[in-house]
Amino acid sequence: MPSAPLGDFYKKHRKKGQKKYNISMPRKEDIIVAKSAGFCPGVKHAVDQVVALAGSRKKPIYTLGPLIHNKQVTAMLEMRDIKTIEKPEEATDKRGILIIRAHGITPDLQRQIEACEISVFDATCPLVKHAQNIIAKFAVQDYHTVIVGDKEHAEVIGLTGYAQGRCTVISSLAEAQALPHFEKVNVVSQTTQQESVFFEIAEEIKKHANMCQISNTICQPTKDRQKETMEQAKNADLVIVVGGKHSANTARLAELCRGLCKHVQHVETEDELDEKLVVDAKRIFITAGASTPGWVIDSVVFRVKTLRDRANRKIVYR
Ligand code: SF4
Repeated sequence: MPSAPLGDFYKKHRKKGQKKYNISMPRKEDIIVAKSAGFCPGVKHAVDQVVALAGSRKKPIYTLGPLIHNKQVTAMLEMRDIKTIEKPEEATDKRGILIIRAHGITPDLQRQIEACEISVFDATCPLVKHAQNIIAKFAVQDYHTVIVGDKEHAEVIGLTGYAQGRCTVISSLAEAQALPHFEKVNVVSQTTQQESVFFEIAEEIKKHANMCQISNTICQPTKDRQKETMEQAKNADLVIVVGGKHSANTARLAELCRGLCKHVQHVETEDELDEKLVVDAKRIFITAGASTPGWVIDSVVFRVKTLRDRANRKIVYR
C-alpha cells in the first residue's frame, strides 16, 4: 500500500488553533571542500621535520621566525617546547638545533648562522630555492631584479639577498609604471603571488627595459590552489577561507574569492563562522591557505555540517 504523503500526516495531527505548519526536510548536502586546501608540500615538510626532531634527543629546538603563520600550529609547537627566535645569536644553547623555515633566508643570514656553531636543519622549500637560484643566476649577468611580492614577507626578504644589491620589490601595476628604465631586468615572483597580477605587472615592466627576463616563480601548489578556487568560488553562494589572519597567502586567497563570490568569510577557527550565512547558503565552498593544518579545516567543516543539519531539522510553524 502506498504511504500517505507527509503533508497529510501533519494536517491530520496538527494542534487545534494552529493554522498551518511545515517541516523543512533535510536538504541535499552541497558543501565542497577544496582538494588543494591546507598545507602545501613545503610547509608540510617543515612541520613534519620539526615535530620529528622534537621527539629526538637534540634539544632545544629553535625556529628562526615563526615556522608558519598559523596560531594553532604555533601553539602546538610551543607545547612541544619549540622556541621561536628572531636572531641566530638568541640560540644560546649550542646543544640544540636551529631550523630555517620553508620561506628561506638571505645568504648573509646563512653566514651569520654558520658563525653561531649550532646544528642547523634547513627546511627551505625547494621551490623557494629555485626562485633564489634564478635571481642569483641573472644577478651575476648584471640584471636588475624586480620581485613581484610583499616587501615585508620573509620569503621576499630572503629572495632580495640573492640579487647582489640590485633589487626592487613591487606589488602593484602603479608601482611597475613608476619604475625607471633598466638595461637588463629579471622579473620574478613571490611563490604565492596571484598569477594574473604577476603577468599584468611583468607586461608593464617589459616596457621599462632593453632586455627583460620574465621568470614566473609562482609555485605549482599555489597555481593549483588558485585554479581550483577560481573554478569553485564563482559557483558558490558562500566561500569560507580558513587560515591565519596574518598569513599572506590565505589573505590573498580570500581576496581572490571576493572578486568571484558575494559572501566570503575568512576565519581562523570554526568559532568565527557566521551561522546565518552558513545556514542560508545553498552551495558552500571551503578552502584554506598553505599554512592551515588539516585538523583546523576538519573542525570548520564539521561545524558547518552541524549548523546546517540542526537548521534543517527545525520545525517551522507558520
Ligand atoms: S607555497 Fe609553494 S614555495 Fe611556498 S613553501 Fe609552499 S610549496 Fe613551497
